[in-house]
Amino acid sequence: MAERLDVLIVGAGFSGMYMLMKCREQGLKVQVIEAGSGVGGTWYWNRYPGARVDIQSLEYSFGFDEALERDWRWTERYAPQPELLAYANHVATRFDLSRDISFNTRVTAAHWDAAADGWTVTLDNGETRAARFVVMATGCLSVPTDVTFPGIDDYQGDVYRTSRWPHDGVDFTGKRVGIIGTGSSAIQSIPIIAAQAAQLTVFQRTPNYSMPAHNGPIPDADFQEWLADPRAYRARSRATVGGFWNEAREDAILIHTPPDEIKAELERRWAWGGFRILGAFADQALDPEANRVVHDFVAAKIRERVKDPRVAELLTPKDHPFATKRPCVDTGYYDTYNRDNVELLDLRADPLVSFTATGIQTQAASHDFDAVVLATGFDAMTGAIERIDIRGVGGETIKDHWAAGPETYLGLMVAGFPNLFLITGPGSPSVLTNMIHSIEQHVEYVADIIAALNASQAGRIEASPEAEKLWTDHCDQTAAMTLLPQANSWYMGANVPGKPRRFMAYAGGLHHYTDTCNAVKAKGWEGFVIARGDQLLSESREFTSYPPPPETMAPHLVEMAMGRVAKWLEAHGQPA
Ligand code: NAP
Repeated sequence: MAERLDVLIVGAGFSGMYMLMKCREQGLKVQVIEAGSGVGGTWYWNRYPGARVDIQSLEYSFGFDEALERDWRWTERYAPQPELLAYANHVATRFDLSRDISFNTRVTAAHWDAAADGWTVTLDNGETRAARFVVMATGCLSVPTDVTFPGIDDYQGDVYRTSRWPHDGVDFTGKRVGIIGTGSSAIQSIPIIAAQAAQLTVFQRTPNYSMPAHNGPIPDADFQEWLADPRAYRARSRATVGGFWNEAREDAILIHTPPDEIKAELERRWAWGGFRILGAFADQALDPEANRVVHDFVAAKIRERVKDPRVAELLTPKDHPFATKRPCVDTGYYDTYNRDNVELLDLRADPLVSFTATGIQTQAASHDFDAVVLATGFDAMTGAIERIDIRGVGGETIKDHWAAGPETYLGLMVAGFPNLFLITGPGSPSVLTNMIHSIEQHVEYVADIIAALNASQAGRIEASPEAEKLWTDHCDQTAAMTLLPQANSWYMGANVPGKPRRFMAYAGGLHHYTDTCNAVKAKGWEGFVIARGDQLLSESREFTSYPPPPETMAPHLVEMAMGRVAKWLEAHGQPA
């Protein structure tokens, strides 16, 4: 076995890259294991046409180094995948990261070795590594679901998965193309494929809400504001619920606002584009009545854009409140359905039966294609972690530990799995936020923990089961206050058959979450057990650092939220 590492990092996306830098700062012996042939994670794998970030690039980039920030120029408000990948490579080159990354290698197992206060990690090339700490920088949306279709192996045409797109691209010119799925990946790729292909058929099971990106050059006012003081610009985004600036008005209550003012505010935000509409009113994510008003506004926008009223109706979401699934940000999505070469098929009315040698058979008809694109989504949040055979104290697997849904302390650690850190793990704000800001917060926090352990010559740190339970209950109750659990979303694990239902991200906001983590640290790592060999160094089994209740919340929202929590407690029992 190679020399023992201080830290083994799984994944060389933005999390793994930054973790590597923070470990180097402490002089630690560190190695990153990456399945792909290059850095970039999400932006390495997801090369489908039209792939681009849905947070403005000025905010969706590293903020830890002002010189790096000032030297890089984004060309568009929402950077396209090639530019994001170029950025990842730029960071890797600038900080000479690749020398500590093993590419084209997968971690298959990680077993806790109690005698060594560390992990034995197995790689798919048969090698093993010993490491004190393992950091799972494996991404929240990195493993495609196993979804398959009867007869797919008999299909003679080409099949492409958006999340595993060929590196040299695909030319659909003159082709008849089918695409299954209408989530973000499909919504971004459909306009581009439609413009190229002879014919595009979209197989939709559930429509999604999508807002226009209004992509283009970075608005000058925004750019000048950033240029004047990048630190202040970043601090402002980090101090928000989502880790990006969207003018959230925490004290604006839709149901107390006159209709013409509601309309004007929603129009203003729609015209600005992207996620800005999410911050319009404090009650839209909590109160079904307020949410319905925003739904009606978006439904009218769909009707405005799509000429065929039947198609517009089909494209309008009906089964979940607005923004309870991750909303999409598009360029020309709805207009694409006005093209003569695009057809929308409703799989609810006419279910998919099987693939055939020449295409897809639905109950009502057969459809021939030269190529089919699967934009069918990911085993989110837990998929990449559970696919590795991770065994903690006493040989318990993480999959077993999470049999009822993921349970973590702060989304960072799992009880019974010492020295194993999750970056943007379940139970952290992660996918509800600007991932880069969540990643930076987590990586810096994990680096602080490792430094503190080394300073006190401790061997290991572990989340206490008590704190894990309190935090997990807090996450559940926070989600229950909102409308978020009302959708069959991948946030809930609902897109993977048999996956336990639990709202997997922390819905309390990145700002409050960061304050909570800082309070935990200030209290001497509250909720954690720290030891060396048989010697217990410090032990805290409580979690008291709850985020403050929102002061500006309207009384009817407090009542509504507390009512939902009461129901949750009735169903799940009081926390320990
Ligand atoms: P997704 O949102 O989970 O969408 C998957 C789509 O496939 C859904 O429309 C789903 O329909 C459909 N589907 C799955 N299995 C099916 C089956 N057996 N038959 C028919 N339809 C099926 O996945 P995604 O589009 O890849 O996006 C996932 C997440 O990745 C996004 O929510 C976002 O967070 C992130 N993402 C971000 C961007 C960006 O803008 N930067 C771009 C892409 C992805 P049902 O809804 O009926 O299950």
